[in-house]
Amino acid sequence: MLNRNGETVKIKKRIFIGLLSASILLILGMILAGVLIYYNRFGYWYRYILLAIIAFLSLFILIVSIGLTGVVMTLWHVKTFFGLEGLMNTSLNMLFPLALALGKLLKIPKDVIKSSYIEVNNKLLQSRRYNLNSENILILAPHCLQKWNCPYKVTAAVSNCRHCGRCDIDGLWKISKDYGVNLAVVTGGTLARKKVIENKPKAIIAIACERDLTEGILDTNPLPVMGVLNIRPEGPCKNTKVDLVKVIEAIEFFLKGKEL
Ligand code: SF4
Repeated sequence: MLNRNGETVKIKKRIFIGLLSASILLILGMILAGVLIYYNRFGYWYRYILLAIIAFLSLFILIVSIGLTGVVMTLWHVKTFFGLEGLMNTSLNMLFPLALALGKLLKIPKDVIKSSYIEVNNKLLQSRRYNLNSENILILAPHCLQKWNCPYKVTAAVSNCRHCGRCDIDGLWKISKDYGVNLAVVTGGTLARKKVIENKPKAIIAIACERDLTEGILDTNPLPVMGVLNIRPEGPCKNTKVDLVKVIEAIEFFLKGKEL
């Protein structure tokens, strides 16, 4: 992630994990409050309703706690907990809105939390091993990578690019040809979803800002999505750039399970 001066700031995974853990503690606090209210001589029916809420919340906490423990252990030891991936993903997705709400209360910028979430997502992916064929990999790039005054419609077909080299679409196109992976340039979530349905990839390398990447990862779950944040030297949504080395590393990871 870049700060206002354009310097790279390393986002720690612990921000997102810390917020998730705090969310669980918050819900545990609510359960405790419910139990205390329950024993405070509530009326007959209220007690059963309260009991049902407590049971539901307890089950929720149990499930997401197991999932979150799996996430933390995986990040720690960088190894996969076979069979727990689904639960880990579900826990992250269920707790994500809570982490955002808590972050707002604690005045942690949304982009910092989302970057942290993307970091966690990428690290979880790296704990697994992939051995995909190149045609099963899709690079999804945002159209703001294209030079703003370029007249060629690369969102319709990337082959419309004339390779003048003024923007990273050219570099991405060359990489996609070298590795034989699919490349689509999209204007937003709707077109991205359409490209995913058309290409039926087994893995996606998504390039975008924090907001779009987070939405994309949550949206395409359980499809593995390696997130690569775009670089915004001229501010958001205009003449953005991407670290092409990171894109190559992500492709090689999905092809050979190579460490990033
Ligand atoms: S590299 Fe392609 S997309 Fe970028 S400005 Fe040149 S022609 Fe347009």
